[in-house]
Amino acid sequence: MPKELRKNLTNSQPSQQGFLLAFGEMFLKSDGVFKILKRNLANHLIFFLKKEKCDFKLRQYRERFFIESPAPESRSRVISPKTGLGKFTKVLQNTFGLAWFAQTFFLPKAGLKELSRFIKNNYSKWIGENQTFALRVKKSGEIKESREKIIKEIAAQIKRKVNLDNPSKEIFIEGRADGWFVFFKKQAGLGGLPINSQGRVMTLVSGGIDSPVAAWLTAKRGAENIWLHFHSFPLVSQKSIEKTKELAKVFINYQPKLKVWYLPFSEIQLRIKTNAPAKYRILLYRRLMFKIAEKLARKENCQALITGESLGQVSSQTTTNLSIIEEAIKMPVLRPVIGWDKQEIISLAQKINTYEISIKPQEDCCSLFVPKHPTASGQLKTAKELEKNLNLGKLIQKAVKEAKAEIF
Ligand code: ATP
Ligand code: MG
Repeated sequence: MPKELRKNLTNSQPSQQGFLLAFGEMFLKSDGVFKILKRNLANHLIFFLKKEKCDFKLRQYRERFFIESPAPESRSRVISPKTGLGKFTKVLQNTFGLAWFAQTFFLPKAGLKELSRFIKNNYSKWIGENQTFALRVKKSGEIKESREKIIKEIAAQIKRKVNLDNPSKEIFIEGRADGWFVFFKKQAGLGGLPINSQGRVMTLVSGGIDSPVAAWLTAKRGAENIWLHFHSFPLVSQKSIEKTKELAKVFINYQPKLKVWYLPFSEIQLRIKTNAPAKYRILLYRRLMFKIAEKLARKENCQALITGESLGQVSSQTTTNLSIIEEAIKMPVLRPVIGWDKQEIISLAQKINTYEISIKPQEDCCSLFVPKHPTASGQLKTAKELEKNLNLGKLIQKAVKEAKAEIF
């Protein structure tokens, strides 16, 4: 919280406090779409603020939201760190669709005169005697005074030096029909589009580092995620399932609700392992994963599959093999980290808090069955023939039937 807001306010003008929110890219949409995205964003914020038990009111403007938080100053006129505003910040930091947010004062129903008095009474607590300042003023059309006039009037109240290029303090002022916002520091939001503005996807989540990052990136673009995890229990421990659950609990900081499917894969893997040449096993596992994922995805009304594949990372992720795998299905497969280096993926995984979970050891379903020398350039014809001879139809049906879902 900016120190300025913590300090006492000497103020005859009643002020409210809260957070001013600026939209990201959704602002570029047509009016109709923009309205829908705004509603999604509002629903998202309301859901998470309630979940955090925040006391708030949400006010909507054309290109801003104002989240009014309880005004502790109504008693003491002091905003203290103990007022729980950290809960608001946590929600706002994890919300897709925001360009920035700022802790702000709001002067309801105030005109330029009242704003001017508020600044006059308080500036000395915000800007030190030897500090410089810059005013950044915005206003909506309803305010009749010109920007120049507002700046002149406010600057005249502040007995400090102006420095427009490199000020010690910036004072942002935004005028709206119903009052004025005064704030000091913009915090960057996550950008992207609000969840639910881009349909639904089914993300294949292995428990490793890449797939949760891929999931997060699609959620950032507004797609609602459903997860699918293939496990090899009881041939291996439940570790990968537990990790997927832990990852899901992190993911619901970004997406309000998450459905996760756990699908038993060991029988299919065993059949492949005992009947197909080692070189082709991974390609076959992955074709089968895609086939099953597509079935489930259609049931769940998902429009695409998402994976954490990155070009050339392992032999199943060469262009040749990706195309052989993808040939197994019709549904589009999106790979948000296809062009990312491992270190880039790791950095984002750390930022979104999935990394520490992902690196916990697991015997994942593939590592147990991975041959020493998988082919990096398989032949589609061979893969398809092998697959046909494996007669997997019944096993696939069984696995899908035995899949279990959990809602987070
Ligand atoms: P990750 O890519 O998630 O870090 P990984 O590197 O161990 O895990 P790869 O073998 O690279 O996994 O698999 C590539 C992609 O295939 C994964 O990103 C994931 O989308 C999908 N995938 C692999 N194994 C599984 C699994 N057991 N369940 C669901 N999806 C999986
Ligand atoms: Mg990977």
